[in-house]
Amino acid sequence: MSDKPSYGFTTTILHGDRQKSIEHGSLHKPIHTSVAFGYKDARDLAAVFQGKQPGYRYGRQGNPTVSALEDKITKMEDGYATICFSTGMAAIGAICQSLLRAGDHVVSSAFLFGNTNSLWQTMGGLGVNVAFVDATDVSNVEAAITPATRIVFVETIANPRTQVADLKRIGELCRARGILYVVDNTMTSPYLFRPKTVGAGLVVNALTKAIAGHGNVLGGALTDTGLYDWNAYPHIVENYKKFPVIQWGMAQIRAKALRDFGGTLGPEAAHHVAIGAETMALRQQRECENAQAVAELLAADERVAAVHYPGLPGHPQHHIAKELFRSYGALLSFELREDIDCFDFLNRMKLAIPASNLGDTRTLVIPVAHTIFYEMGAERRASMGIAESLIRVSIGLEDTEDLLEDFRQALAG
Ligand SMILES: *Cc1c(COP(=O)(O)O)cnc(C)c1O
Repeated sequence: MSDKPSYGFTTTILHGDRQKSIEHGSLHKPIHTSVAFGYKDARDLAAVFQGKQPGYRYGRQGNPTVSALEDKITKMEDGYATICFSTGMAAIGAICQSLLRAGDHVVSSAFLFGNTNSLWQTMGGLGVNVAFVDATDVSNVEAAITPATRIVFVETIANPRTQVADLKRIGELCRARGILYVVDNTMTSPYLFRPKTVGAGLVVNALTKAIAGHGNVLGGALTDTGLYDWNAYPHIVENYKKFPVIQWGMAQIRAKALRDFGGTLGPEAAHHVAIGAETMALRQQRECENAQAVAELLAADERVAAVHYPGLPGHPQHHIAKELFRSYGALLSFELREDIDCFDFLNRMKLAIPASNLGDTRTLVIPVAHTIFYEMGAERRASMGIAESLIRVSIGLEDTEDLLEDFRQALAG
């Protein structure tokens, strides 16, 4: 359960663990590797299994190191509770496993992380129909809703084309219709934006990206903001209705997805994420400054055909980003002029590394249509606004001038 944060973002994260007693006064929550948890009184073990007493039973369903991280994410999102998973995709998959059934309908932004797009295709084969809409305008979401719509799913800033969803108005729509609003906050991170402020019921964070932040660990999280009334959700299993209503969603997700499908975050990984999280706000500040500078450099260069970054005044959703986000994020993408080969350009870069990840400390670049969005084919790419020459940039912590010089020399070459 979250305490209302009364300190600043970084202070809260740094000192969050100590609000509960930490073993031996350790400043870091220790890495508990034990899979099982023993009880002196067998009745206590039974009480834990029956949900009558808090406690750990088996590592797949929960672990003290992971719980400490879950509390930290809950504080970051100002939420009610959080469950961590082995990856960001496991977190999104958990929604499918625990909350969706054949015959259900989902309205999803068409501008999506490639693997989430692929997951929705898979769900189609399992009888869950997904309508893909341009979520930069709430009216498209509204038009797609059917009586079977259970979930509306959007990303804050879409990867890789940086479209910003009509976050606030979609929240109002979902609230009015009693539909669960799920926001993937990975590209903004809870430092730049809290989806709870626009009415999200569930928030997804790929911990792999900004929160862990060093490209050395995978993880994902689902946070229940406490705003959604689970009474309105038709598929809550009777078993979990013995808890207060606010706990129904998390109880069902923890049992039906984490326990039954087993996408558990390991304690060592949780430790890496927790250490990374301590500096997230500082990294985000630097990365956003760098991203703005690189975006402006590219936008001013005649060899660049288009730049997509919400921090540029010409970005179609700049006004939404400006109103809702603390800054504009570390993700940008751009298209080179047709006569410049994107592979040659990438090979000229000295600092930026061709690699597939986001939110690393180092700047990473990738030719999207030829790699992460290759499998979906040209037609779907075109419908998502992905040009064949599109280069995605995940801005890192390099000194701004060094980064600008790297782009300058690669363009000049
Ligand atoms: C990376 C990413 C994910 C998936 O996270 P993994 O940890 O790689 O599974 C989900 N959503 C978005 C927006 C992402 O960028």
